[in-house]
Amino acid sequence: MTTDFQKQQAVAGLEQLASLVRAQSWRQDGTPSLPPTQSAVLRMLDGAAEPLRAAQIAERLGISAASLSDSLKALEAKGWLLRAADPADKRASLLSVTVYGREIAARLNDPQQGMAALINGLSEQDVGAFLRVTQLLVREAQQKGLATGSRTCLGCRFFRPGEGSQPDKPHFCAFVQQPFGDSELRVDCAEQQPADQQQAEESVLRFRPMHSQ
Ligand code: SF4
Repeated sequence: MTTDFQKQQAVAGLEQLASLVRAQSWRQDGTPSLPPTQSAVLRMLDGAAEPLRAAQIAERLGISAASLSDSLKALEAKGWLLRAADPADKRASLLSVTVYGREIAARLNDPQQGMAALINGLSEQDVGAFLRVTQLLVREAQQKGLATGSRTCLGCRFFRPGEGSQPDKPHFCAFVQQPFGDSELRVDCAEQQPADQQQAEESVLRFRPMHSQ
């Protein structure tokens, strides 16, 4: 059973990581220091197949439209984000990255820089452990109504924990029809479709015991 002290240490670890992400001061490549929300928006729009509405972005990030608004204005002022009228809804606009915004997103995704440089130092097994815990934490956040738009494997209707065919690939994705391991768990998957409540709960029940042995 997890003790209060162990939980406190886990929370302290999470806060240290959040503080590292916020600081960004150890980036040495000249990429502008960006607040986490602005980085997340740039990355999301850069990876999106089509422009997104502000409401979609806010939902995926698990923040309110009001909180997102300042970040969008800041990115627009820097010339990294483009806002166009949404032909399907006069009250909404469609957001995409500019060419310069894409350059910044590519630098943010550089595996030698920022948080990615820290992940580079981990083994595949450790990355898998990190992704596994992230799935469970996002699930907890979803249940508390804090992350309604997250696109994780654990919340996906195609996820089949424990149905992979190989010991190092214990999961199965029914979308691509392939088994996969912990290190391939997706935190933001474009193909994800939310599971209904019952399926999500069953997935969690099957996912947890696999890793408590
Ligand atoms: S579709 Fe994506 S999120 Fe869903 S199980 Fe497959 S890889 Fe995971």
